Amino acid sequence: MLAAQLDLGTGVFGVNEVPIPDPQPGWVRVKVRACGVCLTDLHMLKGELRGIHRQDGLLTLGHEIAGEVDLLGEGVDTWRQGDRVAIALLHYKDGGEFTVGVDFDGGWAEYVVVPASTLVAIPDSLPFDVAAIVPDAVSTPWAAITETAAVRPGESVAVWGVGGVGTHAVQILRFVGAAPIIAVDPLPEARDRALRLGADFVIDPCAEDAVEKIKSLTGGTGVNVAFDFVGTSSIELQLLAASAPFGRTIWVGANSKPFTLDVPGILLFFRQQIRGHYASGPAAVPDLLRLLGLGRLDFSTSISGRFPLSEISTAIEHLEYKVDNPVRLVVVP
Ligand SMILES: [Zn+2]
Repeated sequence: MLAAQLDLGTGVFGVNEVPIPDPQPGWVRVKVRACGVCLTDLHMLKGELRGIHRQDGLLTLGHEIAGEVDLLGEGVDTWRQGDRVAIALLHYKDGGEFTVGVDFDGGWAEYVVVPASTLVAIPDSLPFDVAAIVPDAVSTPWAAITETAAVRPGESVAVWGVGGVGTHAVQILRFVGAAPIIAVDPLPEARDRALRLGADFVIDPCAEDAVEKIKSLTGGTGVNVAFDFVGTSSIELQLLAASAPFGRTIWVGANSKPFTLDVPGILLFFRQQIRGHYASGPAAVPDLLRLLGLGRLDFSTSISGRFPLSEISTAIEHLEYKVDNPVRLVVVP
């Protein structure tokens, strides 16, 4: 089969012919029908990010996966061949969290083997490409908003970066009743999309001071919750500056660069909190798939491009250079 693999040591990336993997006991082989292309993959390809549990050797990337159950490993009896499934991002083992496509082989391949515990059934009405983006691109902002930030109806929020993940954050914030929702993004297409999908106000940070504008839109106090879906040090400081007293700032965008907080005292006087966020708990993907199946939430407009596995490099390029303003790109092996 074909698999798009990154050599974690040398950084060499390519589509390789590899043997179809067999599932170990407790694992399942899934025929991949769609797999997302994510900024996290881009960070890995550039060598800016590595899994906690895996730093060398060949790794098949791709962590937003949907497909059909193909072969059950020993001891698995809860699934049948042909079942339509999405794969949750995290596998919990020995007290650790292992991320598919980061710590073990992922879904940029014709087949993937994963722990049976990570499979979630998808509603018949849901296409594979939309199901594929639920683990991570939808479940990460969902958990950031409902768990880490615990946004309450009526709270004011600002979202930095309304691209492939922040766009979903706007939709979810609308769903949970946040108000107003303020989206910050330099791209006009992204701002227009955010307005269409539920933002009340948008800010172009290149044209105006985002912090000042947020303050003026919230009666001078700032927002209750500020989310970063970009992952840039300068933005982390803006989040704090735009937060109200008792405000929570939530870091979701991957950022490994150090930065300095000039006036740490403001956190103390204003009782503000900084909370890091990663992925989602075990309930997020099943909850979201149920909401999608019932038509309460809809992310079908997010699939902005489909590529065969052999053209994965083009998909990556489109994501990196925002060719045709992508929301989510998927490979269809
Ligand atoms: Zn992702």
